[in-house]
Amino acid sequence: MTSSFSNLSLAEPLARAVADMGYETMTPIQEQAIPVVLQGKDVMGAAQTGTGKTAAFTLPLLQRMMKHENASTSPARHPVRALVLLPTRELAVQVAEQVKLYAKYTNLNCAVVFGGMDMKPQTLELKKGVEVLVATPGRLLDHIEAKNTVLNQVEYVVLDEADRMLDIGFLPDLQRILSYLPKQRITLLFSATFSPEIKRLASSFLQDPVTIEVARSNATASTVEQHFYSVGADDKRRALHQILKARGMKQAFVFVNSKLGCAKLARSLEREGLKTTALHGDKSQDERLKALEAFKSGEVDLLVCTDVAARGLDIKDVPAVFNFDVPFNAEDYIHRIGRTGRAGASGLAVSFVASSDQRLVTDIEKLIKTKIEIEPLEFEEDTPRISLQGRINDGRRMYREGDEGRAPEPRAPRDHTERRERREYTPHRQPAASRDPFFDRPYEPGAAAESLPSWEASSKSHPARNSVSANIKPKKKVAALFKAA
Ligand code: AMP
Repeated sequence: MTSSFSNLSLAEPLARAVADMGYETMTPIQEQAIPVVLQGKDVMGAAQTGTGKTAAFTLPLLQRMMKHENASTSPARHPVRALVLLPTRELAVQVAEQVKLYAKYTNLNCAVVFGGMDMKPQTLELKKGVEVLVATPGRLLDHIEAKNTVLNQVEYVVLDEADRMLDIGFLPDLQRILSYLPKQRITLLFSATFSPEIKRLASSFLQDPVTIEVARSNATASTVEQHFYSVGADDKRRALHQILKARGMKQAFVFVNSKLGCAKLARSLEREGLKTTALHGDKSQDERLKALEAFKSGEVDLLVCTDVAARGLDIKDVPAVFNFDVPFNAEDYIHRIGRTGRAGASGLAVSFVASSDQRLVTDIEKLIKTKIEIEPLEFEEDTPRISLQGRINDGRRMYREGDEGRAPEPRAPRDHTERRERREYTPHRQPAASRDPFFDRPYEPGAAAESLPSWEASSKSHPARNSVSANIKPKKKVAALFKAA
């Protein structure tokens, strides 16, 4: 049973904003979390991006803050009361956009701060006074240290995508930020999963939280057709071509496990005639935004990405997701395939399983509680044979027999279905017969930190090596993580 927003008795400006969005019924996380937050309890919620969790915490927090709402222009009358922490710039921007929409008929202000760009415009905004501050941890510490914001009146803290914040290594930054906040507060933690680390984080910072678990995204798997194909590393690109062609796919995400693999694969696919762009942590912020825009506008068809780079991107309803590499972390499988088959639309999730991936597949099986059948993939004769890894000593690409970097001559279609599919598969250009030296250049990783998006790394906030932003003089050593636990 789903209930309506009208049952919540939200303040009129909030109810009006929800109505403007066209939402009538609450999503399961909203239905469960909103009443609990309204009562002022801490929440530990298992929910991912795409479940409506932003509104699940934003609406009750705004509702509770309405008592402080005032039209004064004095910054002192608009202290930070709610702090929302997220792991990446994209997520922070998305969440802040939503908060602003829900708060648009109120006098409650919202600002967003994140690393990788000039602090000045953010500072100007902070100085005007904001009730809701959305931030990535490293940049928030910079602003705290620069005294651009004061957090002693914070009543609400949201740790969103907490599992990913821990993955990235933000725990020391989080601990430090939380040490600046009043002890008396409401803390909400959202995470895709409740790993032991998340439980420890919750036990350190939450008080008697109400645990809320909405259907995990494997429950949405009913709308996602999932296939696991046994494909050797050298045949993965060929398999990708074949499936795209057979399905007449227009756009897809292709997930790989490493930045190196990401850049190489994108170059290869581009060379093979597919409009492709890569998204990984070594890309500059500008390049990443361009890649995203190009995908959103349909200018490129394939977005080859790593998990960290793709996490939380607001791109929905991608027709297909390919796990070119089976993810190392089974939970990433759920995140990845959650990109497709959203909101009841059907989607396709294809994983290429090499012989060494069996253990990773078993992990996924356990997590999604479904027996996975690994299917053989038979190659059509006319699918180009291409080698992903083959190189000869001088660094030139080595193609296998019969493949000179050209697509083979098309053969006559066998039946009507195949004819239709063949028409729909139209790479934007035929692969060049002569080699473009660009594609033979070895991949050169940037100077950015290994696992951190470059814009965060550039704010020198990689806590694994240095728990404090470079712009901050540490006041005291951060206690050993969970020492007491
Ligand atoms: P989130 O999980 O917060 O990123 O939300 C995912 C998407 O669902 C966003 O585009 C929201 O605008 C949308 N959304 C949130 N709540 C509802 C609702 N009750 N009904 C329909 N869509 C919603």
